[in-house]
Amino acid sequence: MIDIFEKNSFDNIDGGVWKQGWPITYDDSQWNNRKLKVFLIPHSHTDPGWLKTFLDYYRQQTKLIFENMVPKLEEDGRRKFMYAEMSFFSLWWDEIDDSKKARVKKLIQKGQLEIITGGWVMTDEANSHYFAMIDQLIEGHQWLNGTLGVKPKAGWSIDPFGYSSTMAYILREADFSNMLIQRVHYSIKKYLAKEKSLEFMWRQQWDQEGSTDILCHLMPFYSYDAPHSCGPDPKICCQFDFMRLPNNKYRCPWKLNPVAITDNNVGERVNLLIDQYKKKAQLYRSDVLLVPLGDDFRYDTPTEWDLQFNNYQKMIDYLNVHPELKTELQFGTLSDYFAAVYERNNVDEGGRPQVPTLSGDFFSYADREDNYWSGYYTSRPFYKHLDRVTEYHLRSAEVIFTTALAYAKNNMAANFPSATFMQYLVEARRNLGLFQHHDGITGTSKEFVVVDYGKRLVQSINNLKRLIAECSTFLSIKDKVKYDFKPKSHFFNLDEIRDDHDSLPIKTVLEVSKEPSPVLMYNSLSHKRINIVKVYVTSPYIEVTDPSGNVIVSQIDPFFTDKEVIDDRKYKVSFIAEVPALGVSCYHIKQVEENANPLNYLSVVTVYHSTSQQTDEKHIKYFLEEFSIENDYLKVTFSKSTSLITSIYDKDEEVEHQTKVEFVEYTTRRTGDKSGAYLFLPEGEAKVMLYRLPPLTRIIRGPIASEVNVFVPSSVQVHVVRLLNSPGSDGRSVDIYNIVDIRNEIDKEIAVRVTTDINNEDRIFYTDLNGYQMSRRKTYDKLPLQANVYPMPAMMYIEDDKTRFTIISAQSLGCSSLKTGVMEVIMDRRLAHDDNRGLGEGVKDNKATPNKFRFLIEKRKANKPVSIQKPTDLGFPSLLAHHSYAHLISPLFIFPKTSDSIPVILTPTFTPLIQDLPCEIYLLNLRTMQNKDDSPDLKFVPKNTAAMILQQYGFDCGYPAKSLTCNTNGGQVTFAKIFKDIVVKEVKSMSLTLMYEREKLDLETQISIKPMEINTFRITFQSTSN
Ligand SMILES: [Zn+2]
Repeated sequence: MIDIFEKNSFDNIDGGVWKQGWPITYDDSQWNNRKLKVFLIPHSHTDPGWLKTFLDYYRQQTKLIFENMVPKLEEDGRRKFMYAEMSFFSLWWDEIDDSKKARVKKLIQKGQLEIITGGWVMTDEANSHYFAMIDQLIEGHQWLNGTLGVKPKAGWSIDPFGYSSTMAYILREADFSNMLIQRVHYSIKKYLAKEKSLEFMWRQQWDQEGSTDILCHLMPFYSYDAPHSCGPDPKICCQFDFMRLPNNKYRCPWKLNPVAITDNNVGERVNLLIDQYKKKAQLYRSDVLLVPLGDDFRYDTPTEWDLQFNNYQKMIDYLNVHPELKTELQFGTLSDYFAAVYERNNVDEGGRPQVPTLSGDFFSYADREDNYWSGYYTSRPFYKHLDRVTEYHLRSAEVIFTTALAYAKNNMAANFPSATFMQYLVEARRNLGLFQHHDGITGTSKEFVVVDYGKRLVQSINNLKRLIAECSTFLSIKDKVKYDFKPKSHFFNLDEIRDDHDSLPIKTVLEVSKEPSPVLMYNSLSHKRINIVKVYVTSPYIEVTDPSGNVIVSQIDPFFTDKEVIDDRKYKVSFIAEVPALGVSCYHIKQVEENANPLNYLSVVTVYHSTSQQTDEKHIKYFLEEFSIENDYLKVTFSKSTSLITSIYDKDEEVEHQTKVEFVEYTTRRTGDKSGAYLFLPEGEAKVMLYRLPPLTRIIRGPIASEVNVFVPSSVQVHVVRLLNSPGSDGRSVDIYNIVDIRNEIDKEIAVRVTTDINNEDRIFYTDLNGYQMSRRKTYDKLPLQANVYPMPAMMYIEDDKTRFTIISAQSLGCSSLKTGVMEVIMDRRLAHDDNRGLGEGVKDNKATPNKFRFLIEKRKANKPVSIQKPTDLGFPSLLAHHSYAHLISPLFIFPKTSDSIPVILTPTFTPLIQDLPCEIYLLNLRTMQNKDDSPDLKFVPKNTAAMILQQYGFDCGYPAKSLTCNTNGGQVTFAKIFKDIVVKEVKSMSLTLMYEREKLDLETQISIKPMEINTFRITFQSTSN
């Protein structure tokens, strides 16, 4: 792809009937020996939420598609149909009786109905995180396997707005051989079409051997609808969408209507159609042609089934008796098509046909002119943030539930509520899965649909938090038989509560007294964590003891209810907590007399540029010069006029890095197409937001943490810069926290701009794909500004030969590097206009939105090779950046005690692992397998097996891994040596989504996970109770 961006001129010449292409001609003699084999592929694209909510779409449209599908396919064995979204399909399955289920199974067996992809949804590929992408695919595949016994073989992704190579990797690891994509930049389609490269082996950038290759078919034209599917001329293809016959629901905008096929016109109609087929076939190397026949929510009436299938059948019959037309037409599915491609290439299924290899991704997407779909990288950032919060709750809940369940079974803890929790998990998997839909996390649904998604996510967050709190309690109890689950009373509180889908969480306050109150901390990562934690308490005079009973250093910060108003009933206490891998630590906090604890420090607070009338005159301060905060490793300096960062000093390296932070804004174009939920169409470059008076600034300094709060008089309401004095990795970066509230603006986009002294030549920068891999980007003058904006689901960096500056992000947003040394992240956008892609409204439901970043500056040490042989332009985060990101998105869970007294004894530290997993291994999931979904008795009875998904990070070891609490060993794991008390009975290596068994592993043998690889293992636990 890098090559294509360099070589392609991105011009937009009118190509005639195929506007974005060229006039296609062909020589009919090419089919003299072998006919053109055409597969007509009926399908229906059903969005699980967009203009209607998921359930409304189901009740009003999708259900009708399924209901008509069964009898209409049964009517004629030659008919075929494909379907993709398991979220809808499973709803229907639960409603139908056994005889209908049997009929569906039969249609699948006969190959008339094919389930493609089989994910919970057709995921967005720009904003989604690989945890959720994989999880929704596992959920769909597990559901299919448990109910229909079906294993999908081909991926079908016609509507997401640009494509990530992460999805290609995921499908490949799920043992798919083929996939199809559609929404790719029109100019790149044309470029690939010219080279007959619309079918290619999609290879991961880091793959040297081709082991990740998957055959990918890219559709050539503007859209996946029927007018843009049969050939280059939409006004002709439209006449072959028989649902557009007069008196039906749809029309042809080209003013040439379809005509029903009769004995009289069939010859003329067939000739018109196959001319389009033959032209389209010129764009591909094989003489097999794929022609989708469908659109959004199609085939919902018996009439449509009859119109499409009967009219086409007449043409199929005609072609069968007219061999001189050299075309063979049949109904087919995606797998039928690919099977024919392999056959005509004389290779086995899953082999390598005569196609080129391509690496990279397909961002940013433009469907016409300069209409780049780079706005949706940021649209509805509140919910993009909520997505990551749900994800870390789900991942943590999966891991602790599996651990706790194994302990419960081993310890005969009959009161462990395994079915209740399994239900929480299954619902959360599905709610999170639903939100990965390409109108969910993208922020491109109608306002009330966004509310529906938000409510589902928040309900799951609250359930999962309760699950994690209970499992932490259970695992901390010494005698587990004594554990008793009471749904209405708990020993430990949640540290924060979310009241509604659109509000920020409210912190729980621990009522401290002279009796030490326990506070549990849970660490869902597979290495020990030493992190600074914060607990809200009712007194400033306290004593914190660690699990061994030692009093440790604590810092008390006041609790501000407003810029300058302090609530003297609440305080924040910060201290350094140490929690073992997948373990729980119990700290205690008690109230002491004033000055009785020499290790408890009250932080020093200074307020500058106060405007408050109440403040005592003598406290009003103005900065005379720039100011700073520091910890053991870093010193951050701020401007005296703007109170924003100007530089970061690295104490280890004794280097000062220019780091100028500014807030900037884009306005939308005044004429022509406007920015909307999908599109970003700015009126030129962003302008720096200037303010008349220096902003109110609050500085808090203490031995544990120091922070600067800037109350920017603009849409960036609060900007917090925090330095943690931690020996862990959180001490190595600068934490940034903003609350953006753009509700007083319209047609504006707010960004944070960071100007550094890094010389990233050619404006090359790196952004991640789904948090899984980094992709090299370059800012081109030949492209408009909005084309140079890319998704940043997790991080971006720029570097020169000495230094790398990484911005790590806790939420997915759009980013760019428009000038050398400069990075920009768009934080929110509020838009009055619809951008003409079907949504029918702007984006105006903004709310106060949190966003969290980390700035990490690293100095390159020698030109060490990266952990994978580094081909040109391949980028990897450092190991520290990986850990910093994992810590940012999954903070320790903190559970302060409730007022109920605890009748059982708690262990100070619960440590389930024999030793930490190596530093470069990430435990992506430890997911208890669900029982048969369509059995009411077994539905939420968890199985004794779990999917352990392990990944080895690909990392750049040119940057030293500082402050990590684990060791590297080249990605080695021995299953017998992971868990301390849980006995693992059997481990099998599986395909990614557990559809296929690979091999049974010897528990004592060390296995190794290769860099970048994600491997799934099915673990069966020994249990005394089964
Ligand atoms: Zn869609």
